[in-house]
Amino acid sequence: MTITRFAPSPTGYLHIGGLRTALYSYLWARKNSGKFLLRIEDTDQKRNSFEAMEAIKQVFDWVGLEYDGDVYYQSKRFDLYKKYIDQLLNEGKAYKCYMSKEELTALREEQMANKQRAKYDGRYRDFEGTPPQGIEPVIRIKAPQNTIIEFEDGIKGKVSFNTDDILDDFIIARSDGTPTYNFVVAIDDALMGLTDVIRGDDHLSNTPKQIIVYQALGFDIPKFYHVPMILNPQGKKLSKRDGAMDAMDYKTLGYFPEALLNFLVRLGWSHGDQEVFSMQEMLELFDPKDINKSASAYNGEKLLWLNSNYMKTLSYERIIDDLKDLELDISAHPKKELLIDSHRERAKTLVELKTQIESIINKPREYDAKAVKKFLKGEWKEILTKFLEILKQNSPENSQDFEEMTVKFMEENDIKLGKLAQPIRIAITGSSVSPSVYDTMAIIGKDELVSRIENLLGTF
Ligand code: GLU
Repeated sequence: MTITRFAPSPTGYLHIGGLRTALYSYLWARKNSGKFLLRIEDTDQKRNSFEAMEAIKQVFDWVGLEYDGDVYYQSKRFDLYKKYIDQLLNEGKAYKCYMSKEELTALREEQMANKQRAKYDGRYRDFEGTPPQGIEPVIRIKAPQNTIIEFEDGIKGKVSFNTDDILDDFIIARSDGTPTYNFVVAIDDALMGLTDVIRGDDHLSNTPKQIIVYQALGFDIPKFYHVPMILNPQGKKLSKRDGAMDAMDYKTLGYFPEALLNFLVRLGWSHGDQEVFSMQEMLELFDPKDINKSASAYNGEKLLWLNSNYMKTLSYERIIDDLKDLELDISAHPKKELLIDSHRERAKTLVELKTQIESIINKPREYDAKAVKKFLKGEWKEILTKFLEILKQNSPENSQDFEEMTVKFMEENDIKLGKLAQPIRIAITGSSVSPSVYDTMAIIGKDELVSRIENLLGTF
């Protein structure tokens, strides 16, 4: 069974790079009817925050990534890690190192002076004498010497590290007894039964250390996939301004979770030249072996384009619900479906949709000066006054009724649409921009239209 996980450190908000690896792990598990687990890497008590943990769950909730079973918290597993530290000590695969801070600094300085890489020299590896007094030891693992640690990365292909070059007997427990990062990650990944570890390639250099832990404990090594970073369009590290923000900010900006996930799945993975993927299609087609080998560039225009695609196709219920989250409730509006349909072609985000809808359902607070100057001239007042009379005598309800009534009026009075439609638009929204004028009339209804036209006539 395929088991994957997402293992965030709750030290800040969940940004889109993290969400992307979570999505890849989720898709791969679900596609194979496996399990997708969530593990919170909260061993660094000083840097963790409860808010960050909640924020991660909130993002998962919003985009609909469901994890299986309970959340694993590393902070609750210290006894377990301790057990494995003791096991390695008993088996002679780890040892206590009594090197003082001063000794370590002296060693570093000497190595640097000799232009060598800073590396622990193994002085306590086979130590058998009496340990120095007053020093709480750290625990170091006996890393294999002069060997190549090699693994087949699912994206990068064969990756190898020479233990003599880069790996020393690294610390697995600090002097206060707390276990270190790579040690606990390896133990958790093994005990949680992970078959596939998909993560950012900023973790690539951790992998050989974790493999050493797997080997020392006799655990099966999972398949690793190290996903290249997301860069900005200039090829630099993605900054907050480029889009490396809290995933929840995308909600506030009016993006649909479907669009964000679609955007993220394509940011580093492709299937031919297909751009739009429903969750169903992602599940059918995603395979981590098709993740790109090179970094991908963030493209905000593409995200907008995808979002506008979803705007055109998502159900009324979904859009109404999502608008509620942006504090616009149109669920009781008698023309709610028309409100959405008449705007969804033009609005790229829910925020735009909200603004456009509000410009129709709310009375204009002011009239756009440019539009007034341009369109309220000539006989506009006479025309609009006459139209108002006709409107009062009729009972139009839907767009078609309004259209028939207006067209008849224009024909009888030999008036061109622009001369009538623009003043009506200004009466309804305060500006000369709106979707189909007949739709907007139908949305606000006859009585409100009468009132808004009277307001305009009374103002100028
Ligand atoms: N906790 C790590 C992070 O947030 C991820 C570790 C991993 O995926 O192995 O970057």
